Amino acid sequence: MDFIDALQQGNLEEIRKCPKADLHNHFVLGGSRQYLKEHTGKDIKPIFEPIHSMDEMHAWNSQNIGEDFNSSEGRRLLIEATFAQAKEDGVTILEIGEDVWGLGEFFNGNIEELVNAFESAHKEIAPEIELRLQIGMSRHCDIAYLEDCLSHFWGCKAFYSIDLYGDELAQPIENFKSIYRRAKAEGLRLKAHVGEWGTAEDVRRAVEELELDEVQHGTAAAEDPSVIRFLVDNHIRLNITPTSNYLLGRVKDMKTHPIAELCRNGVDVTIGSDDVLIFDSDVSKEYLRLYQCGCLKPEELDDIRKKGLRTV
Ligand SMILES: [Zn+2]
Repeated sequence: MDFIDALQQGNLEEIRKCPKADLHNHFVLGGSRQYLKEHTGKDIKPIFEPIHSMDEMHAWNSQNIGEDFNSSEGRRLLIEATFAQAKEDGVTILEIGEDVWGLGEFFNGNIEELVNAFESAHKEIAPEIELRLQIGMSRHCDIAYLEDCLSHFWGCKAFYSIDLYGDELAQPIENFKSIYRRAKAEGLRLKAHVGEWGTAEDVRRAVEELELDEVQHGTAAAEDPSVIRFLVDNHIRLNITPTSNYLLGRVKDMKTHPIAELCRNGVDVTIGSDDVLIFDSDVSKEYLRLYQCGCLKPEELDDIRKKGLRTV
């Protein structure tokens, strides 16, 4: 069955069989619920109603995740669960990676050990998936601290991209300029979380200041036609996670999600999962939800899916 038929028939199993990219996945909460239950006995429950504050998010975290995975073994289990999840979902290109602070915390400060944890889980669980390994940073961290952590990552050819996430309003985006300049020289694809909590202008500024290739979220861009044009003209891709946006109260509902406005105006968008364990947002479900709520037409969703599979 082709993808469009599968959407129209609401056949999730067939949607799963179609190749898809997941370019917005934080592996820590990106794992398979079932895989983690089998390996830990833990039953991690997603949320279904929008939450109203980050305190609720923290409460969910301590109740469902807690300190259970804060070990080298725990971290490896989360990596394995993420490959298991992507495989079940029919994801064929998966972009994930470790936060820079995790190197010392879970991998003895040894970059080869860190890379090997991802590559061996990849090989063992889903070798057919194209893995794009990412370096991650939290926006609240001190720049000198990040630069110190990153010194271990520079020069390591296993990495494909770099991303910045966490509290979008923690510090000005300009502070990260020197890091992104170095990352560019390293040949990495440049990404950052912007325009989830911030404004359209924040999206434009981040792209200009950091010379981004892709933006995680970037949905606020839909509020300003000039920023939409800017993204189109500069071929900036937005990796969007609709259910996450809805459950975090960033959009009113799925039907009016700005992904439709962005994509119909020519912005290159992909659909990602963000955090499957909390949002119950695997990529196949995201496509189906966007179709069933009337946000996007099946042909538009198929076009997004195919574009996400292109090599850029
Ligand atoms: Zn994210």
